Amino acid sequence: MEYQELQNVDSFMAGLIKRNPGEPEFHQAVREFAESVIPFLVEHPKYQQAQILERMTEPDRIVIFRVTWEDDQQRIRANRAWRVQFNNSIGPYKGGMRFHTSVTQSVLKFLGFEQTFKNSLTGLPMGGAKGGSNFNPKGKSDAEVMRFCQSLMTELHRHIGEDTDVPAGDIGVGAREISYLFGQYKRLENRFVGTLTGKGLAFGGSLIRTEATGYGCVYFCENMFNRSGDSIKGKTVSISGSGNVAIYAAEKALELGAQVVTFSDSSGFIHDPDGIDAEKIAFVKDLKEVKRGRISEYTEKYKAATFHEGKRPWSVPVDVAMPCATQNELSGEEARLLLANGVKSVCEGANMPTELEGVHAFVESGILYAPSKAANAGGVAVSGLEQSQNALRLSWSREEVDERLQAIMRDIHTQCVTYGNQPKSETINYVNGANIAGFFKVAEAMLAYGAV
Ligand code: NDP
Repeated sequence: MEYQELQNVDSFMAGLIKRNPGEPEFHQAVREFAESVIPFLVEHPKYQQAQILERMTEPDRIVIFRVTWEDDQQRIRANRAWRVQFNNSIGPYKGGMRFHTSVTQSVLKFLGFEQTFKNSLTGLPMGGAKGGSNFNPKGKSDAEVMRFCQSLMTELHRHIGEDTDVPAGDIGVGAREISYLFGQYKRLENRFVGTLTGKGLAFGGSLIRTEATGYGCVYFCENMFNRSGDSIKGKTVSISGSGNVAIYAAEKALELGAQVVTFSDSSGFIHDPDGIDAEKIAFVKDLKEVKRGRISEYTEKYKAATFHEGKRPWSVPVDVAMPCATQNELSGEEARLLLANGVKSVCEGANMPTELEGVHAFVESGILYAPSKAANAGGVAVSGLEQSQNALRLSWSREEVDERLQAIMRDIHTQCVTYGNQPKSETINYVNGANIAGFFKVAEAMLAYGAV
């Protein structure tokens, strides 16, 4: 990397794009971050002199490997897998594994990059990483998923460890996959340690881990409303996705008195104007987690609801929108539509769900807009608490973990307010707040280490 004086976002990005060609998701994540952080760096030249931003946007290492496995017809299959170990300045690498056909190195680099700052915001000692494979778990038998997970772990185990790198779940990696991965890790290493999080409660898992990302997202939203004397109570909420994050965001929103009206999956969205109550959430949970069905089946049971094939839920007028499916699932146009329909808050459960144009629209509008780094940090925070419990060889109660989760989300909100305060405005720029607060701790650690 050439030594460069940092001038502006465009010149910084031109260098980054040249060094990382063909990685649009990674470029997008870095640009959003650089737009917040470069003005801060200009005021604090010590980071610039140490080339902190240039170093932070280069992963520590990427491990790429082949995963060979046998399907139920005894055919040999091969997939590609990665572990992107992005930055371990403030703790062992930590971040999920994603199994989806859309997984590429670019996707995992964006996720690992964002994870570094999200983990920093939690206040826990965790570095940033992400991994996964282009393996498609849809339509595979349990036995096929097991053989794939075992084969993947046969390579991955040598790169991870409880003090080195601690993977968890993400899209396509839930309780079933973590169990297969952990079972194989334990067998290969002959050690029972907390090298994976999201484990089952019978073998070292933490209470509330399953719920943590969705719950945390709603806690963050409530913190934003509370700051201006308002609450999520009585608000209508649209949620995209119908996986882990979406389901528990809906559960907590309902518990706090909001009315959830949508869910989606990759085939379309359902709109239930009567509201999605606890019984309906239980139906969706069973449909997606156990039966591995499609969200369209909701309308066969609940006749007042409609299914919108191939569409996303952002055309439905609501007070709060929570994108909880995947990256770039909310375009600039959809952001403007949400704003025109009077949305008061957008709180991101998924990672980078809003395209950059939409991010700009939300920030400029002054609504309560929480970027994913802050809003979905509850999941990794409780993963960190699972690591602590494993190290202590004890388990905390549901109430204790939930209290800690609430305290962490409150603290992240406070950090965002501190760093996202705008001198001439009443509103908080939560994007700047999350990026600068997340950056600060990692940057201080990197400065302290010198040239490493
Ligand atoms: P799940 O696999 O449990 O659910 C993903 C949901 O999103 C499914 O409803 C899925 O639909 C939908 N989806 C996936 N890809 C697409 C796509 N390309 N277009 C439309 N819909 C899609 O994953 P999670 O709930 O765990 O993760 C959701 C998001 O939250 C991700 O961005 C993830 O990185 C983020 N996140 C997750 C955390 C966690 O603890 N699990 C922690 C922090 C962030 P379908 O069934 O059709 O595939």
